[in-house]
Amino acid sequence: MRIALCALVFSTLTLSTPASAANEDKPWLNPALDPDRRAELAVAQMTREEKQGLVFAYFGTDAPWKKFTTSPEARAGSAGYVPGIARLGIPPQWSTDAGLGVATQGGAREKRERTALPSGLATAATWDPELAHRAGAMIGAEARASGFNIMLAGSVNLVREPRNGRNFEYAGEDPLLAGVMVGAQIKGIESNHIISTIKHFALNDQETDRNTLNVNIDRAQARMSDLLAFQIAIEQSNPGSVMCSYNRVWGDHACESDYLLTEVLRKDWGWNGFVMSDWGATHSTAKAAMSGLDQQSGYPFDDQPYFGELLLKAVAGGELKEERLDQMARRIVRTLFAKGVIDYPVKIAPIDLKAHAHVTRAGAEQGAVLLKNDGGLLPLPKRTGRIAVIGGYADKGVLAGGGSSLVYPVGGNAVPGLEPTGWPGPIMYYPSSPLRAIQSLAPGAKVSFDDGRNHEAAAKLAANSDVALVFVTQWTGESADKPLNLPDGQDALVSAVAAANKRTVVIIEAGGAVFMPWVDQVPALLHAWYPGTAGGEAIANILFGVVNPSGHLPISLPRDASQFTRADLEDKDAQGKKTLEVNYAEGATVGYKWFDAHGQTPLFAFGHGLSYTKFKYSDLQARLDGQELVVKFQVRNTGRRDGRDVAQLYVSPAAGGWEAPKRLAGFKKMELQPGVTEPVELRVDPRLLGMFSEADKTWRIAPGSYKLMLGHSSAEFELETAIELPARTLPVRPRH
Ligand code: BGC
Repeated sequence: MRIALCALVFSTLTLSTPASAANEDKPWLNPALDPDRRAELAVAQMTREEKQGLVFAYFGTDAPWKKFTTSPEARAGSAGYVPGIARLGIPPQWSTDAGLGVATQGGAREKRERTALPSGLATAATWDPELAHRAGAMIGAEARASGFNIMLAGSVNLVREPRNGRNFEYAGEDPLLAGVMVGAQIKGIESNHIISTIKHFALNDQETDRNTLNVNIDRAQARMSDLLAFQIAIEQSNPGSVMCSYNRVWGDHACESDYLLTEVLRKDWGWNGFVMSDWGATHSTAKAAMSGLDQQSGYPFDDQPYFGELLLKAVAGGELKEERLDQMARRIVRTLFAKGVIDYPVKIAPIDLKAHAHVTRAGAEQGAVLLKNDGGLLPLPKRTGRIAVIGGYADKGVLAGGGSSLVYPVGGNAVPGLEPTGWPGPIMYYPSSPLRAIQSLAPGAKVSFDDGRNHEAAAKLAANSDVALVFVTQWTGESADKPLNLPDGQDALVSAVAAANKRTVVIIEAGGAVFMPWVDQVPALLHAWYPGTAGGEAIANILFGVVNPSGHLPISLPRDASQFTRADLEDKDAQGKKTLEVNYAEGATVGYKWFDAHGQTPLFAFGHGLSYTKFKYSDLQARLDGQELVVKFQVRNTGRRDGRDVAQLYVSPAAGGWEAPKRLAGFKKMELQPGVTEPVELRVDPRLLGMFSEADKTWRIAPGSYKLMLGHSSAEFELETAIELPARTLPVRPRH
């Protein structure tokens, strides 16, 4: 089955053959030459204006509030457009959002119908890099077939602030998990000979005042948290582009930060793509260019056309050296060559949306996290007599997150008209109805729906049913943060239903964490995130055991607001300040690390996730292979059905000295038949054993004993062992 699906997906990735024989007079079009040489040859032919044209991007959609009309050559409703240089064979750059699929800008007259993946957190919750790769390959194929050669995808900001409205786009709170999963997705996208853009670089970890806030954090701690997630993802995938973010960091705009854009990205990490700004994140010409910004994106969003005529003026006036403009153009053109954009030109083509629905459904099925299942209430037997489905528009569809990443589905919005209908809305429900999917999986059952508005009516239906399935939702979106309380009286709804029927299952559709004051009242609980365009079927498949859940939390779920790292999300406008100082005093102590360091117990721990079967570990052994820490163990499916386990290895220094008592050091997702045992070997990234020293840019592993803990979450361990590690000092980029 799996093989057949892959074949279906990849049949849509029909690529044209490389532009073959080089034109004699255009040697840069010869695919046999290396990309650096090709870029050098091409840029040498360009006029100053042509070079400048490459570094200055239009918005791909009209922006009437800016009196901006886009080029007719832009892809309708898209994020970006840069004209090509036809005489040299350089194609236009057409860019589209984002990490969950081919999005359409809200202002576009016509919306493309595309496949939406489950949210970034859901994909991270699969803990399965191969699945993330397949997901990336699928959306990259849709981008390519929609005529885009750049995807603005690969969102790896750490979930440091649980209220961040964009957490649903990201990959969780741990740098290893986030970096590996996003790296895999980017590789999948770029397997289509298009460019992917990792973002938002860096420390854009909240939306409140995102354009004006200034992040303060110890630099070494940043290297071990947010920057490490980027570093790992970039090493794994070498994305063609990096998008610098809206916020300031250490006083500088991220898109003017020489430290981030030149020292970290280029010198320390050796990355060789091009840096584009977020839409509205460019603030100067010479300073930005000299700091390492290579392209101004969506210029109408900025105050000035900084890399437009202002850049030409700066070069003419000597404020910006022509060599730097050459370098900017070379980096862009080199990336177009290196990623195959020029040799395999994009072509608008039909998309096999049916085949792609299988890919997104698999992601939703493997990313949903079964948080609780007391008494084995789930899976539901198909012969259940009366099923109450309550709330969450479960009769219509499943919720999506708002903002630039919003993908418009086949069939349109299942619940149109909910406010806000404008940015960062519309609130979108994908027309994949859980109710319909439940009905088709339990054809003999009487399945009734109540919209949940009248709690008494909902409770009455629940009381007359064999099981009650309550869907609760929280919509979040770009540009605004949200408290974690479920809106519209949904907490009271759950309590009322749970009081009426002991067999109540709650299904959450939310951007990330939500508070669950009723958690002890319900026996079963499934976090489905925003599950994408096949989410309704995925949820039903899990509820009825067609699929065995295998998602594990990529974030900690706090009990209540007393467990936040920062009590308030300050709002500078409310305070009348120009710049909001956000102090990440917790440094790298993010998520479970913060909970551990403060002796706090979250409601559900990072890494937690139940299955309908059981897994057991044995033979945990650690050794040094040269200087590399290698850990081996066996995993056995001790239950009665097939399932997928996520084995998690955490490490803790006996002497302490880290930002937190322990760190995730490795993980492995694997599928096992009942009774089957399989060996696993994990090689630990040495950076996860050390502390970063900013003074000499090294990772330092302190000598001593380290405890290795193997378990099912960051709070549930089965086996432990210890190993002595010698002192070790590694360069900033240890694997290269
Ligand atoms: C977002 C980016 C997005 C860009 C283009 C910005 O508002 O922050 O993630 O790629 O818009 O739509």
